[in-house]
Amino acid sequence: MIGWTEQQQMVKGMMRDFVEKEIVPIIDDLEYNGVPPYDVLRKLFTSFGMDELAGANFDKQIARQEAIARGETVADAAEKKPQEGPVSEEALDAAAMSLLPIIEISRHCQGLITAMGVSVGLTAGAIMAKGSLAQKKKYARDLLTLKKIGAWAITEPNSGSDAFGAMKSTAKRDGKGGYLLNGSKTFITNGPYADTIVFICRLEEDGVEARDRKIVSFILDSGMPGLEQSAPFKKMGIGSSPTGELFLSDVHAGPERLMGESEDGYGRSGAKSTFSTERSGVAAMSLGLVERALEMSLEYAKTRVQFGQPIGSYQLIQLKLAKMEVARLNLENLVFRFIETRAAGKDFTLSEASAMKLYAAQTAMEVATEAVQIFGGAGYMRETRVEQLMRDAKILQIYAGTDEMQIVAIAKDLLGRA
Ligand SMILES: Cc1cc2nc3c(=O)[nH]c(=O)nc-3n(C[C@H](O)[C@H](O)[C@H](O)COP(=O)(O)OP(=O)(O)OC[C@H]3O[C@@H](n4cnc5c(N)ncnc54)[C@H](O)[C@@H]3O)c2cc1C
Repeated sequence: MIGWTEQQQMVKGMMRDFVEKEIVPIIDDLEYNGVPPYDVLRKLFTSFGMDELAGANFDKQIARQEAIARGETVADAAEKKPQEGPVSEEALDAAAMSLLPIIEISRHCQGLITAMGVSVGLTAGAIMAKGSLAQKKKYARDLLTLKKIGAWAITEPNSGSDAFGAMKSTAKRDGKGGYLLNGSKTFITNGPYADTIVFICRLEEDGVEARDRKIVSFILDSGMPGLEQSAPFKKMGIGSSPTGELFLSDVHAGPERLMGESEDGYGRSGAKSTFSTERSGVAAMSLGLVERALEMSLEYAKTRVQFGQPIGSYQLIQLKLAKMEVARLNLENLVFRFIETRAAGKDFTLSEASAMKLYAAQTAMEVATEAVQIFGGAGYMRETRVEQLMRDAKILQIYAGTDEMQIVAIAKDLLGRA
């Protein structure tokens, strides 16, 4: 893939119109005034039929899984394992279309993508990957269509980068088939408002050293006795993505809430595959942000006059613009590679996803910082919006694994292969 098709460009244009009409006018409310992002995201879904499409895809997948569970032979070509060889236009198109909202919205309001991505990609994604059929039917359809909002909770006050090693939250068997959950989670996207929460913790087992205890996950509903969801934190950027804490005190969870209805349902490997999904999406977010930063910088470089000339005539400014274009091209290529990989029915390895995330996050931050520099004092003012890109870009280097942890993952893989 070397470019967007005409059809994709048309959809991109329609998305851009939507963002300019429906999101840009309420950006201050979303970013600074505490208005939750869900209504406008739902509007996006209904305006583009994304909710109907997600629902129909879900129904098709579930019907197939139910047929398999009944022992029927399923002959659905669309569900067959992808063949080796060139990928179909249809698969490429589907993968590309799923990224267009990410790119277009990240041009102005990356937080909306974080809130949506955690609900749909991480929470529903985890349930679709590892939940039982009953759990998928109960929770995933509503999450995929944004009828409900999801949170995916692994981080704790004392366990961030070392997510598994230092994890303190626990599940204790209650002797009646259920569990008692305790602990606290922090920095949880959608935490304040989530209807459905994937809570990741350790299984307390007698005779097993704390660090060797199994990682298990539960699907929780907002309002369960003993579960408290905090108010949103105030943050440097992505104000449109509510982030909060979760406190669990003797929350009783029946066995039907255990992910996959098994203590081996969604542990370290499940969570690691979610890391991979999470990391891969960052290239599309960075591309939107970098496209916008470059566009704004070009406009300013052509119109801002100092020493009698537009600042774009100075080579120091030209170098910044040229580097931004190189970054944009590289990010676009990463996005195209992501689309082709997905269309071929493949996933990135954790190390590939980490490499993409590291590059994309650092690039977005560098470009946004240089964009502010091109704007000079005006760049430091909220009104010009360019400073928001810089604040939004910074989170890409922190969540979904910090830059340092991406480096660790890449190096570990390289050295393991050597
Ligand atoms: C806005 C936002 C949204 C988030 N959303 C979610 C969410 O939805 N769900 C969720 O579970 N979590 C979420 N997080 C948590 C996020 O994933 C963590 O903040 C991140 O993984 C880093 O953990 P930490 O903040 O504890 O930093 P720490 O792990 O304490 O790291 C501090 C510093 O030390 C460095 N460091 C740590 N270990 C090493 C090492 N071995 N080598 C070199 N350097 C190291 C780090 O890179 C960093 O620079 C979110 C965070 C933010 C800010």
